[in-house]
Amino acid sequence: MKTTKKSFRFGIIGLLFLLAFAQPAAAQFPRFKVLAFYSTTVEEAHVQFAKDAIKFFDDLTIGNGFVFESTANMADLNSEKIKQYDLIMMLNDFPHSAPQRAAFRDYMENGGGWLGFHVAAYNDKTTHWPWFVDFLGGAVFYTNNWPPMPAKLIVEGHDHEVTKGLPDTYIAPINEWYQWKPSPRENEDVRVLVSLSPDNYPFGLKDIIRKGDCPVVWTNTNYRMIYLNMGHAGHIFTDATQNKLIIDAFRWVVSQDEKGNPFEK
Ligand code: ZN
Repeated sequence: MKTTKKSFRFGIIGLLFLLAFAQPAAAQFPRFKVLAFYSTTVEEAHVQFAKDAIKFFDDLTIGNGFVFESTANMADLNSEKIKQYDLIMMLNDFPHSAPQRAAFRDYMENGGGWLGFHVAAYNDKTTHWPWFVDFLGGAVFYTNNWPPMPAKLIVEGHDHEVTKGLPDTYIAPINEWYQWKPSPRENEDVRVLVSLSPDNYPFGLKDIIRKGDCPVVWTNTNYRMIYLNMGHAGHIFTDATQNKLIIDAFRWVVSQDEKGNPFEK
């Protein structure tokens, strides 16, 4: 009987030992790293947006959930640097030089994440970067409204992580809105998440968007990316619904990492 008691005791000790060391691994903080690119030498309204965006995302790091860094040096867009980050943001600029473009393409084609705002997707016949147009789902800048104005936006379905918690429509704060031709919706790999409501047409006082499809938030499903057209001047982060959209878009792109969803770590 003595032996049984002893092995029972050892059994208990063994069990406690097991409990102590077999706990699920504690969450690792910070969960992921973000690098935001911006320029201080572009249109003043776009610099203003970048400043607001940096404050907005920096505030989201409270608790050390993720690392948020920003740089006004586009030369940081090199493979050695950006491979250290799970997501890169373009707040008011885009890759210019051939090495920057090559580094960006390599990053995106190997699972990198991108969140681009407003002028980050700007391209026209002077851009000479066909890969980037494909990356955006074929969208080429066509026109914009002027002056910047609030707009009624349509949330396109609630069957996506980014849209499921949003209302069917909302009035977005003042922005300069771009229209694209062709519309990225024509690309079957593009999922349009939010678009400009035709209820706004004719939209603008000086420059007028009169008609046609006008997606403002979309993802090209061939890449881990979302583009948001918001990003002109100092009103973008003044609306709770839109802030939620921006956070949900950010969170979704991060969550799709093929290395694993950082929010489940
Ligand atoms: Zn603008």
